[in-house]
Amino acid sequence: MAQYELTWITDQLATGYAPMSYAELDFIREQGISAIVNLCGEFCDLHQIEEKSGFEVYYLPVDDECAPDLAEMEKALEWLDEAVYLKKKVLVHCRHGFGRTGTFVSAYLLRRGLGMKLAQKAMKGKRANPTNYIQWKLLRKYGKQEGTLRAKEPSIDNRIGIDTDPLIKDYTTFVAAVDDQFQEQRSEDGSCGQDQSPCCFQPFDLLLIESLYLSQMINQKLSQVQRLKVIEQAGEMAQKLKVLHRRAPGISSEDFIRLCSESGFRCPLLADEGSCLLYDYRPLRCRLWRPEHQSSLPESINEGIRRLSKNAYLTLAGIFPPGGNLDFSSVDTISGKFVQVYYQAMVQHKE
Ligand code: SF4
Repeated sequence: MAQYELTWITDQLATGYAPMSYAELDFIREQGISAIVNLCGEFCDLHQIEEKSGFEVYYLPVDDECAPDLAEMEKALEWLDEAVYLKKKVLVHCRHGFGRTGTFVSAYLLRRGLGMKLAQKAMKGKRANPTNYIQWKLLRKYGKQEGTLRAKEPSIDNRIGIDTDPLIKDYTTFVAAVDDQFQEQRSEDGSCGQDQSPCCFQPFDLLLIESLYLSQMINQKLSQVQRLKVIEQAGEMAQKLKVLHRRAPGISSEDFIRLCSESGFRCPLLADEGSCLLYDYRPLRCRLWRPEHQSSLPESINEGIRRLSKNAYLTLAGIFPPGGNLDFSSVDTISGKFVQVYYQAMVQHKE
């Protein structure tokens, strides 16, 4: 695999030059980078190649030796802010990785509140730096009007400043073990999430750890366009479920699931082509779904998920969880509303 020289400015932000082969793009992906800000005004199709190679790309074409338009740069910085907030690793590049890249990344540091001196210090000795008067002038102007960080996605860890990575790691280890254990028993007619399986047309609930994980994967693995679309669809599906609940009060959960399927319910993560947008990260309920036992999981697995969820609650809330299960609907998880539901439950429990 071709090496590509990355310069990391922060843990999530790297600079570089225009990748010139698929092998270089593969190498960049191998470093955990999933998003790119492409500043090359001279290559009109490189951003499309990057997109086709699986990266989420923001294309802000700037001519060589020039500075971006301030308003356009602001939009691109907003996009970058959001990608970093969602824990994505991002590469910023122009053709050679000097002036345009340096200008854009310096503006990003200013936006993060570093101020001109600290921003210059952070970029000192780096290949990427503004190279001419026009670029410095833009930065000085931007430094004066420096915007504030706007990050909109709801997130439990961000709101209370607790790192959820260890919780997520325990959960993914658990899922990998379950995957190994049940590999042979999986349905041979295709699993949930592939080829429009019926399981994707039924609503389901998730415990706290599963909601945390799925929500992180939505933030990290989907492009901005995909994410906004699934959030919107989740809102629509939540409305649909509310109406169905109102129409059929007291209905058993099995009958309600049947009613939802018949009324056009569809998991917002199911892409139009019929496969799950997060197939590799789908919940255990979907991994082990089989027509004969549908979404009920073996008790040993339920017990494991409950244990991890209780641990998550204790870590996040600092108190033991309430009795019973704290679960969230799949649509509230996907829309991000589960964060609000979680806080309401936690406040009530603390009172
Ligand atoms: S998460 Fe994926 S596999 Fe599970 S129901 Fe939704 S689309 Fe299907």
